[in-house]
Amino acid sequence: MKFDKRVKLTNNKVLNKDGEYVVYWMQNAMRVEYNHALNYAVKRANLLGKPLLVIFVINLKYPEATTRHYKFMLEGLSEVRQELKDKNIKISFLIGDALDCVLDVCEKASFLVAEKGYLKHEIEIRKKLSSKVNIPMFEVETNVIVPVEEVSNKEEYAAYTIRPKINKLISYYALELESFEINKDSLNLKVSNEIEFNVEDIMKLLSVFEDKYSSEFKGGISEARRYLDDFIKNKLNFYEEKRNDPSLDYQSNMSMYLHFGQISPLEIYLKTKDEKNSDHYIEELVVRRELSYNFVYYNKNYDNYRSLPNWALETLEDHSRDNRKYIYTLEELENFNTHDTYWNACQKQMVTTGKMHGYMRMYWGKKVIEWSNDYKEAYKVLIYLNNKYNIDGRGPNAYAGVAWCFGKHDRPWFEREIFGKVRYMNENGLKRKFDMESYLKKIGEKRQ
Ligand SMILES: Cc1cc2nc3c(=O)[nH]c(=O)nc-3n(C[C@H](O)[C@H](O)[C@H](O)COP(=O)(O)OP(=O)(O)OC[C@H]3O[C@@H](n4cnc5c(N)ncnc54)[C@H](O)[C@@H]3O)c2cc1C
Repeated sequence: MKFDKRVKLTNNKVLNKDGEYVVYWMQNAMRVEYNHALNYAVKRANLLGKPLLVIFVINLKYPEATTRHYKFMLEGLSEVRQELKDKNIKISFLIGDALDCVLDVCEKASFLVAEKGYLKHEIEIRKKLSSKVNIPMFEVETNVIVPVEEVSNKEEYAAYTIRPKINKLISYYALELESFEINKDSLNLKVSNEIEFNVEDIMKLLSVFEDKYSSEFKGGISEARRYLDDFIKNKLNFYEEKRNDPSLDYQSNMSMYLHFGQISPLEIYLKTKDEKNSDHYIEELVVRRELSYNFVYYNKNYDNYRSLPNWALETLEDHSRDNRKYIYTLEELENFNTHDTYWNACQKQMVTTGKMHGYMRMYWGKKVIEWSNDYKEAYKVLIYLNNKYNIDGRGPNAYAGVAWCFGKHDRPWFEREIFGKVRYMNENGLKRKFDMESYLKKIGEKRQ
């Protein structure tokens, strides 16, 4: 296993030889297998002769999270708990502010392992933790195949600029992880304030937006692997040709499992790369996905309009006063109440199932731009809706996806009203390419 470039010591504190345990703070890689951070923590704990304590902090008001996100996350954690137990490793669940909870547990620890973060709030909390904690802190990168700083030291312009950089390094990093065993059982360790883990009880404590729809997807590694196996067996071979058609179901459904780190991109990559016709899938899973990580890591405006390239900002400014035929309020959009049946259908798909089809996300975003007076407002609305209803929302792909609708990672096209040189999409394109009646029927059959 190549740990060298995945692991960073983030402070120069002295190791506490008398610590009772080693701590791994699990946050965005909620899995046991293909988890470099967990592997690293076990390896170092064994070397030191200490048990390993895994902790997970449940923040009842996590930024933008809604009940569908929590439920999916907790379902996954329930499996993690069992898998760790089978390996004689304790996971303690705490409720509260992550910084305070991790610092408390670290009082009795020898050192701390955490995963690397990419979004602003993830980076911020790691910085604070690293300076406040009294023990060494290691950050381990496990949610991308090639470590983000190894790929590039700057924001990449588009897929064509990052692709060769990733391709050069991928065989070095895409390696199976060694299986591991902990030497010292930690199941009897007790942490003050730890809670009994029970999904229903925790759900009752939440004070976030409550869904009237229960999502179609269940969280956890078993479900992720069930979808993945079915995809490899029945769909991967036809992915290039059929994935864009919203009336069909030829995507892998990995996005939400990847978002919560319930499955590793490395596992998916290793299982698909040698299959027939897997190139297009690998392009999405690795190049496009890791371009999104590069985007949020190096562009601190990733969550707002200022993230766009100059050509897009300039052309949009030139068209900011163009006449708009339709303008919709957030309420009308949220309740799929526009004149456009296809748009209403995909918004409804996202609200009622927790996942909008990939091709429709592009159309969806473009239309909100067309129906808003103000591009900045449209940007905010798209992030708000995407993150509230897609289970895979709130991560690097969400921000890159919305930015793409405004020209990010794309190129200038022919100039036209409202969009300027930013790529445009219309319903005739949908009708020409796909059986949209069938898509409508499929969504119409969903719950109202
Ligand atoms: C406006 C808009 C919003 C989006 N919001 C999100 C989001 O919140 N979360 C999210 O994960 N993706 C988002 N995407 C990207 C893409 O639509 C989804 O990743 C994909 O539809 C998820 O379904 P899947 O896992 O079945 O995909 P598959 O087609 O089976 O692809 C496999 C994996 O490749 C990656 N991938 C696929 N397409 C893209 C892409 N265009 N960019 C980056 N990575 C990609 C994802 O990790 C995905 O899980 C958005 C795209 C747009 C245009």
